[in-house]
Amino acid sequence: FINPHQCTVDDGCDDTFSTIDSVNQQIRPSVVSLVNSDFFKYFKLQLYKSCPFWPENPMCFSPSCAVEIEDDNKLADDYGIFNNSENNDEEKEGGSKKTTLVEYNCDYCNTSEESQDDAVYVDLTLNPERFSGYGGEEAGRIWSAIYQENCFNKPKSEENPDNNDALSSSSSDDQSPVLRFNNKYFNILASWSNRLQKNKNIDNYQLLNTLMNQEEDKCIEKRVFYRLVSGMHASIGTHLSFQWLNTNKKHAKFEPNLDLWMQRVGYFSDRLSNIYFNYSLVLKAILKLGDYLNQIQFSEANIEKDLINNIVDSVRPYENSIFNESLLFNYEDDLSNQLLKNEFKANFKNVSSLMDCVGCERCRLWGKVQTLGYGTSLKILFELNDKTEDTFDLKSLKRSEIVALINTFDRLSKSVEIINYFRNEWKQTEEGL
Ligand code: FAD
Repeated sequence: FINPHQCTVDDGCDDTFSTIDSVNQQIRPSVVSLVNSDFFKYFKLQLYKSCPFWPENPMCFSPSCAVEIEDDNKLADDYGIFNNSENNDEEKEGGSKKTTLVEYNCDYCNTSEESQDDAVYVDLTLNPERFSGYGGEEAGRIWSAIYQENCFNKPKSEENPDNNDALSSSSSDDQSPVLRFNNKYFNILASWSNRLQKNKNIDNYQLLNTLMNQEEDKCIEKRVFYRLVSGMHASIGTHLSFQWLNTNKKHAKFEPNLDLWMQRVGYFSDRLSNIYFNYSLVLKAILKLGDYLNQIQFSEANIEKDLINNIVDSVRPYENSIFNESLLFNYEDDLSNQLLKNEFKANFKNVSSLMDCVGCERCRLWGKVQTLGYGTSLKILFELNDKTEDTFDLKSLKRSEIVALINTFDRLSKSVEIINYFRNEWKQTEEGL
């Protein structure tokens, strides 16, 4: 078992692994109660949107890929008040309700799904994230498209400060020859890396990954973007390995699969480290949210608020040893910061839109929950009460954003628990050899 190396201070966190293990033990009961509460277990989304990036999108028809949808959307609407008059995208017009598409500049994801006519409610507790059998080229294509979004043209403002085109995500056509070369070079390394991993050539795989990370280590924002998606990937791998469907038995059963987890996550210190990194980032967003909890009413009894307060109170003493968002978007000139932030947002929005290309409904559901959860964390960390014009206040947060934030944190908190479970299992196998 490779111990996760510590993430460096300039990535916004330091000695977090042991801290997180012990904090997680403390707060896990409150997190579990939260995600089982009526407010947080219902998530509203557009589950059947078509893929915006490529036409054919084969769907998986295995029962493990299916999602159970709530029949009575009205009933689910009653769970929780979320008393935010400004958070609905609905306007009254001549007595009838009109739905408008509101996109805020501060958004890192599409946040309007919950107010669309074809949005459905799903009870997340009835549709757990676990092994579905989805994989092969289809899934590989999505992961590869996700990692390709980690491509920033950061120094653009230095090249041409008046170039407002840099505000939108650039296509490969308008990339500089140097950048095109770098991307091509990186893609070649990535395909070697895949081959080495498939052949279980773990030592060389790690060597190559270090080289790729050095290539990638150009700026902290780029590293953070990579760690976010890699941490999400590793967390998904952890859940599917912990609840892996064993069909070798007379009655198929979901159970932990240590070997599978080692192949997907355990042998890779960077992947382990990225799960802890994500934990730290999302937890910091929840801490920040904690300062504004008085503005939110979740439900009539508002027990959700007490549970979040329990988490916040337990974590407050460790605040300085978890994610430090002030290290990002902290270049000397404001234009560089703004351009880089806009690029980061555009790229992350693409990652969230890629979830509509996932051919397994259950994976798509959890992919959407998690990308929205990370998007909400980034929004809280980098936009809340920001001094710029595009600032948002908490009242503009949608119900689905808060639900996604807490459920994404639960995924990471469960992943940390599972890592410790597999670590013990691994130690026992080693001792038994
Ligand atoms: P993949 O996981 O497909 O990875 C492709 C390549 O990426 C690997 O060869 C490796 O080089 C690299 N890689 C792998 N992990 C990381 C990492 N953490 N960081 C950096 N690089 C990495 N399957 C389920 O059973 N249940 C689910 O809930 C589920 N949800 C999914 C959600 C999404 C959004 C997607 C795209 C897929 C999901 N899948 C799910 C499928 C699952 O993630 C894998 O794609 C599938 O199990 C096949 O795995 P693989 O070993 O071929 O490699």
